[in-house]
Amino acid sequence: MTPSTPETTRNVALVTGSSRGLGRAMALKLAAEGFDIAVHYGRNATEAEKVADEARAHGGRAEVFGADLTTPANAGKLVEDVIAQMGRLDVLVNNAGITRDGLAIRMKDEDWDAVIQTNLSSAFSACRAAIKHMMRARAGRIVNIASVVGLTGNPGQANYVASKAGLIGLTKALAKEYGGRGITVNAVAPGFIESDMTATLTEDVRKGYLADIPLARLGQPEEVAALVAFLASEGAAYITGQTIGVDGGLNPH
Ligand code: NAP
Repeated sequence: MTPSTPETTRNVALVTGSSRGLGRAMALKLAAEGFDIAVHYGRNATEAEKVADEARAHGGRAEVFGADLTTPANAGKLVEDVIAQMGRLDVLVNNAGITRDGLAIRMKDEDWDAVIQTNLSSAFSACRAAIKHMMRARAGRIVNIASVVGLTGNPGQANYVASKAGLIGLTKALAKEYGGRGITVNAVAPGFIESDMTATLTEDVRKGYLADIPLARLGQPEEVAALVAFLASEGAAYITGQTIGVDGGLNPH
């Protein structure tokens, strides 16, 4: 998408889970690229307001939206609320995600359900609402934040891996279904990125991961945000249905 000039209506991007972490970096990068931003949070309203303030410093509009994405219907409503309040939606980034790790044989149904609903079903609900709007505009960009483990698998994360592999499949299906309507749908598969999600890793686990990463360091949220911004840009107009890794070489494919 080409961000519009200040005289015309500016393009709008919604990033779910942009109160902190990777989503925050994506919201700020898209704001820097000239998009108006819908900042979404689950619990951290104050943090989301701070992100919106930082986004506005780039000269555009930023509004804050709260929605609990444990309930997938809330994601569709979130998209509708953004369109109602901001007038349009050009870019949807499904970034909000959680982990509830544990060995499969001991995994509670509620931990399976919470991860699948938050990471996968809510993304589907948001995509469905966004695509209805984007079809009318005959243009739109959707970026789903998957994970390297959605491609490789990972012990102790059956629910999370299934949700991320599901997102990759959803991405491919929607790319084929709506390419003819001018909508691109891609997935980004981060490796191990510095954020609250990876801050809880023990030193031993962290060392183990580092040994497998050719670039020998964890990634930064801004390094994922750069790819998301590219996929939202005019330069990515002919890219759809792809899953692109930002993983320091962890999973070359
Ligand atoms: P994070 O720091 O834990 O942030 C998660 C974000 O999702 C927060 O903004 C949070 O909002 C939101 N969220 C979580 N549960 C929610 C719910 N039920 N309803 C609404 N919002 C909810 O995570 P992150 O590391 O930035 O990860 C972002 C995405 O990248 C996730 O999809 C994750 O799976 C993926 N990813 C991360 C890594 C990594 O190494 N960090 C690697 C691969 C993939 P509130 O705080 O406002 O509740």
